[in-house]
Amino acid sequence: MSATPLAAAAIAQLEAEGVDMVIGTVVSPAGLTHAKTVPVRRTNTFAFPGLGASPSWHGFASDQSGIAFTEDVGVVGDQRLRIDLSVLRAIGQGLAWAPAAFFEQDGTPVPACSRGTLIRIETALAEAGIEAMVGHELEFLLVNPDGSQLPSTLWAQYGLAGVLEYEDFIRDVNASATAAGIGIEQFHPEYYANQFEISLAPHSPVTAADQLVLARIIIGRAARRHGLRVSLSPMPFAGNVGSGAHQHFSLTTPEGPLFCGGIGTAGMTPAGESAVAGVLRGLPQAQGILCGSIVSGLRIRPGNWAGAYACWGTENREAAVRFVRGGPGTPYGGNVEVKVVDPSANPYLASAAILGLALDGIKNKTALPPETTVDPGKLSDAERDRAGILQLPESQIDSLAALDNSKLMRSILGDAVVDAVVSVRRMTHERYGDLKPEQLADKFRMAWSL
Ligand code: GLU
Ligand code: MG
Repeated sequence: MSATPLAAAAIAQLEAEGVDMVIGTVVSPAGLTHAKTVPVRRTNTFAFPGLGASPSWHGFASDQSGIAFTEDVGVVGDQRLRIDLSVLRAIGQGLAWAPAAFFEQDGTPVPACSRGTLIRIETALAEAGIEAMVGHELEFLLVNPDGSQLPSTLWAQYGLAGVLEYEDFIRDVNASATAAGIGIEQFHPEYYANQFEISLAPHSPVTAADQLVLARIIIGRAARRHGLRVSLSPMPFAGNVGSGAHQHFSLTTPEGPLFCGGIGTAGMTPAGESAVAGVLRGLPQAQGILCGSIVSGLRIRPGNWAGAYACWGTENREAAVRFVRGGPGTPYGGNVEVKVVDPSANPYLASAAILGLALDGIKNKTALPPETTVDPGKLSDAERDRAGILQLPESQIDSLAALDNSKLMRSILGDAVVDAVVSVRRMTHERYGDLKPEQLADKFRMAWSL
């Protein structure tokens, strides 16, 4: 967090570039992106002392109105949202953007803050001599402004028709992202009609999550310019494949990378194996963080390429943890893709959970179970049992209970984060748990849209 204010010349430079408003964003335990804005002359005040925000911001539910109050999340108190000036940048059409984090008025970080939590995990990794890189994938569905389905007369899975139908939008996103310093690695039509995917360049964990938030802003703005909107629901239309928010990560120590060039399975080092094992072992407890919304269970199903089975496999798209082997076809080197993460998750918390589990695996030298080399859904129950392959629960109540009761997740993320996520997710379950899949998908289609 940069404490150095911007010089008057830097503010004047922003103004010369046409910037008149600065947006600061935070992502909540419910995966919602919240924002405050200031006129550009107030940029430094937004960084220090920051702008007031009630603790109830941590309790906002994804149904546009709910607030899940807890002992820590209530109407009394006033925290400070502070933007990170080191990340501030102009993003076109008069706006500048920076990620924000929550602080108490005395400057102490707020434990429920997701960006602060990921900063803590990145620091813990650094203290263990480990550098992490994270690469986000962003799947989304284009819809009409009222959230209804767009025509799909010209559409094939991953088809060129999708590129040509939305050519202007795609070029607009690419140009705006490049101008804002976002590294788009690729942009392509996905499987379901009007579904697209963007892969973002890997960065250190906090920077990568910041870039994902900015990429969503850029996509949302571009969509509006073309009369479209973006659904970031894990299951925009029930009964189909959903949208994931897969996270890739790699780890490096001064001795070299942990996921390639090693003596272990698939070129991993022993520490790399333990990192994968740690993530795998913790998945059932972390599910409430990675894909814990009321519609997440509609996606976490075999056959959806969402990683419904808690197992790992090299290039196995039905495994919750897909290992990407290093080699000439993988310029970033060996890495691990956690497929269960969906776009209703808070990306900072999802990275914190994954990397915290990887670090725990390394510290405890957790043993890596055998690789799953086939579609786990094609195995019989007995074969899966023998291989120790667990199907992750589709029930939100079960995954939240596992999170709530997890000493491990509480030790990694802290009680404030776990309590906030559990209570805000439980609130939506209590209110909407009786809805049928179609009604749920309909109600929450635009819940995470920007
Ligand atoms: N849409 C799938 C999901 O929900 C992922 C498809 C892919 O592997 O890219 O995770
Ligand atoms: Mg995809």
